Amino acid sequence: MHNIDIGLVEMTLDVVKYAIDRIAKTNPEFGKPKKEEELRAIVGETITPEGIGGENAFNLFKDVLIKATVPIDHPRHLAFVPAAPTRAAIMFDLVTSASSIHGAYWMEGAGGIFAENEAMKWLVSLTGLPNKAFGVFTSGGTAANLSAMVAARENWRKDDKNLNKKGLIITSIGAHSSIKTMAKVIDVDVFLVPTEDLMSKYDLKNAINGLDEEDRKRLFSVVATGGTTNAGIIDDLDGIADICEKENLWFHVDAAYGGGALAADSVRHLFKGIEKADSITIDPHKWLFSPYDCGAVIYKNPELAKEAHSQEGSYLDIFKDEGAHGFNPSDYQIQLTRRVRGLPLWFSLAMHGTDLYKSAVEKGIALANLAGEIITKNPIVELVREPSLSCVLFRRKGWSPNDYRDWTYKNHKEGFALVTPTKWKIGDTFETVSRFCFINPDTTEEDINAILKTME
Ligand SMILES: *Cc1c(COP(=O)(O)O)cnc(C)c1O
Repeated sequence: MHNIDIGLVEMTLDVVKYAIDRIAKTNPEFGKPKKEEELRAIVGETITPEGIGGENAFNLFKDVLIKATVPIDHPRHLAFVPAAPTRAAIMFDLVTSASSIHGAYWMEGAGGIFAENEAMKWLVSLTGLPNKAFGVFTSGGTAANLSAMVAARENWRKDDKNLNKKGLIITSIGAHSSIKTMAKVIDVDVFLVPTEDLMSKYDLKNAINGLDEEDRKRLFSVVATGGTTNAGIIDDLDGIADICEKENLWFHVDAAYGGGALAADSVRHLFKGIEKADSITIDPHKWLFSPYDCGAVIYKNPELAKEAHSQEGSYLDIFKDEGAHGFNPSDYQIQLTRRVRGLPLWFSLAMHGTDLYKSAVEKGIALANLAGEIITKNPIVELVREPSLSCVLFRRKGWSPNDYRDWTYKNHKEGFALVTPTKWKIGDTFETVSRFCFINPDTTEEDINAILKTME
């Protein structure tokens, strides 16, 4: 094809073989972190005028670089929010790359965008939002939250008296860090409701009533969480929705982690009220088994998002012509050129059917409940709170923060597991505790027992 790729043909089999082997592995080797100096000493200079050759570069990747990463789909990777992309989705991620589809505009990407939208329809149906609601795949929850907040703020600013005001949003301290960070990006202030447990309608009411007159006028949105990252807690979405409606506030639900659980019948009722949201964030790369990266933002009224995000430029006019009529993903979030990153999810959903997704999400919840039972029976540990969604917070009796840290590093260095401590607010103090977050349906009871054994 391109001169630049001379010599590639011989590499192709090696690369594809490696990819197939890796996709087939359920227990990939646990990597260990290395310092930059260490990696540089082994790898040397790789970007040179003549090139080091595909074989050399690939060997460095296989023998050194990949071993300095943690496979997030390992069944004993229970830190942060793990991931467990389906093999179908990973394979189709390769196909997505190979197909060179531009995902910004229907004119160029119609077939790919059509498929993405089929997957999106299913996501929207899980939320229960009214008919006109629709969304678009983003690079992740952060970009989805940002896109929704921009839409909310621009909508608020349509009223001239808000034009020169700095906006204010309310969320809780249980909300994800990206909310505060994205508020900085769009230069709005954040009022934090001081609860890491669920934000109730009373908490919200108090927060609003506590604002002075000027601040109340700056308030344009409430961000509730549909499954906190730390503990899987779902805010009182129904109560908060009612207040937002009365107070004329944009109601955003950040369900980046928890959104997958909308598919699980056993917990769906906890999300009651999400169908009244103005916008919702869901990360398929967290609990809907998509490879990195794939987030989604959904709007009750996509037209409002379009008013905020549609880009203007003489070079872009052609995309808006008759022949190009269709859904233009770039009109609904902050990115222009984009990968059709919903395509791997589409293929996997189409292949497996949505029932398998339901049962795979239920498995994560079942694992959390099972871990809760095991912990309750084990005398050296105790639950900090009942498991929620697929998160379990527990303490090792008698341990200091340093003990948790040493334990985490030991398991990591031995290539056994990655389970990290977190903090949980009790009264006015933050206690260091341990946390499991289950996503991977391949995690077993033996894995849980074996990890707890390392705490003895
Ligand atoms: C992970 C997470 C985010 C950020 O999503 P990214 O995909 O990492 O950008 C936002 N909100 C919540 C609740 C999350 O769990």
